[in-house]
Amino acid sequence: MSERPRLTVLSGPSGVGKSTVVVHMRQQHPEAWLSVSATTRRPRPGEQHGVHYYFVDNDEFDKLIANGELLEWAVFAGNRYGTPRAAVLEKLENGVPVLLEIDLQGARQVRESMPEALLVFLAPPSWDELVRRLTGRGTEPQDVIEKRLEAAKVELAAEAEFDVTLVNSSVEQVVDELLALLGVV
Ligand code: 5GP
Repeated sequence: MSERPRLTVLSGPSGVGKSTVVVHMRQQHPEAWLSVSATTRRPRPGEQHGVHYYFVDNDEFDKLIANGELLEWAVFAGNRYGTPRAAVLEKLENGVPVLLEIDLQGARQVRESMPEALLVFLAPPSWDELVRRLTGRGTEPQDVIEKRLEAAKVELAAEAEFDVTLVNSSVEQVVDELLALLGVV
């Protein structure tokens, strides 16, 4: 029997609900280790440094890149996000399952640098449902909505690059499936 892949990457189109899945997983199974990313984005209310993200400025992020401290990094909506390498490797060496929740550009980089990683694509239940989530209450201008939907089409086409697809029809079910893939339950 082959050994279970211990680095698992959760990715998927924006608006599909990755962060909701991760929040539920953390509540139910705090022992599942989720990598804490560095970001140049400002904290949202309630977000804590070192818990949700390491909030850094542009100079600090430049240094992380220059020192090779990031396993992967990407620009998303005008901010930079990256996975600190050392903590991930330390956990893996100690046999702890590791989950990364990152965007598609990051998932592709992990595929290149750690081909043994398990890439999980979180898919919307349907195109109409994704449109509904992305357009929200319809308060945004039509051209912005059009751009988001175009981007979503491109993002959905990335599914074929992934090892496993989980359909986000029920958060509880996706969390269970993810925990099983991680080998936590
Ligand atoms: P948010 O600003 O809403 O927390 O996250 C925006 C996007 O950045 C999400 O799609 C999230 O998955 C992605 N993201 C968070 N951390 C990382 C990271 O370390 N690397 C990459 N590539 N994307 C990340």
